[in-house]
Amino acid sequence: MTLTPEVLTGQTRSHLTDVDGCLMHRDVMGDFLNLKAAAKSAGFELAVASSFRDFERQQLIWNLKFEGQRAVLDDNGQALDISTFTDREKILAILRWSALPGGSRHHWGTDLDIYAKNLLPEGVSLQLEPWEYTQGHQTPFADWLTDNLTAFGFYRPYQKDLGGVAVEPWHISHRETAQQYLTALTPALLSTVIASSAVAGREAVLAELNWIYSQYITNVSEA
Ligand SMILES: [Zn+2]
Repeated sequence: MTLTPEVLTGQTRSHLTDVDGCLMHRDVMGDFLNLKAAAKSAGFELAVASSFRDFERQQLIWNLKFEGQRAVLDDNGQALDISTFTDREKILAILRWSALPGGSRHHWGTDLDIYAKNLLPEGVSLQLEPWEYTQGHQTPFADWLTDNLTAFGFYRPYQKDLGGVAVEPWHISHRETAQQYLTALTPALLSTVIASSAVAGREAVLAELNWIYSQYITNVSEA
C-alpha cells in the first residue's frame, strides 16, 4: 500500500474494508475479528463506537468547536468558555480531546474506539468518558483489554497522560499498521494538507504545526 497524502489524512477510502458496518483498514480486519471473538468467549460483546473518520468529518468537529458551536471540554469534562481565548489557546484546548483534521489516527483505519455493548446499562448511552472505563460499567472490559490487547496486535496509544491527548482507555490501535502511518505522516505533508483546507484557525494551526505534531501526534505511548 502506498501511503499517499490522501491515505494518511483521511481523504480516501481505498485502504478500507467494511466489517459489520464499520470501515477499517484491510490489514486490521483479521486481528480485529480475532479480538472480538476472544472478547465474546470472555463474556463481552465488543462493539465499535468509532472506526475510520474522514478528513471532512474531523474538520467539521474541529470547526464547530473552534467557532464555539460545540462544547470544548476541560480535563474534568466541564465545558470551557473559549470566547475570550486566543486562537492558540483554542487550538490547545481542542487538541486535548479532538485531533487536528489530517492528524487523527482515525483517518488511518487502524484505530478504533470500542466498548462492551452488553455492559452498557439499559437506557444508558456511551459517553466515551474515562470514568466509564476506570470505575464504571466498562471497567471489567477495560481490564480484560489490558490483559489481552497485545496478543492480537493492538495497544492503547493514549493509555497514559503524556501532556498531549488525554487518556482514552477506549481507543485501541493496530500497532504494526499504525506505526507505518505515523512514520509516513510528516509535518511537511500535514502542512500542505491544512494549507489547502477549510480548517478554522488555519493560520494559527500552521504557525504552531511543529509543536502540534510533536505534542499531539507523535507523543503517544509505546506499544
Ligand atoms: Zn479514538
